[in-house]
Amino acid sequence: MTTSRILGARKRIALVAHDHKKKDLIEWADFNKTVLARHELIATGTTGKLLEESLDRPVKQVLSGPLGGDQQIGAMIAKGEIDVLIFFWDPMEAQPHDPDVKALLRLAVVWNIPAASNRTSSDFLMTSPLMHEVYEAVIPDYSSYIKRKL
Ligand code: PGA
Repeated sequence: MTTSRILGARKRIALVAHDHKKKDLIEWADFNKTVLARHELIATGTTGKLLEESLDRPVKQVLSGPLGGDQQIGAMIAKGEIDVLIFFWDPMEAQPHDPDVKALLRLAVVWNIPAASNRTSSDFLMTSPLMHEVYEAVIPDYSSYIKRKL
């Protein structure tokens, strides 16, 4: 059985970038400034500060990623408070908060939200007409898991 979750026309977009990917994300955000202007932005601490400065608009900030920010974003996904995840993680450097990185990527799949981890995928996402429409995302029905007998 499946169930669904509604992603509104104005999306709540979470943005996270590891240190060596921050420049990439800022350039990407600048390139997509017009589309992003139609949505709400939420970011981990340092990424959020940089985005706010470069885009000159408010960006809701949670804690810095390694201090719990990735987990906060993950919890927001689980609570239905994030519609899209743009996560530029660094494939070339080990992260002290690797378990949190994995957990965040995992929750994006658990809750079937659109997620992208590089500039090209993120461009494709931003140019989808669905970015500006109400969308019904199918999610697995986890109720039998919740009610399982142990
Ligand atoms: P930061 O966190 O935006 O606070 O640097 C990003 C991360 O490493 O998860």
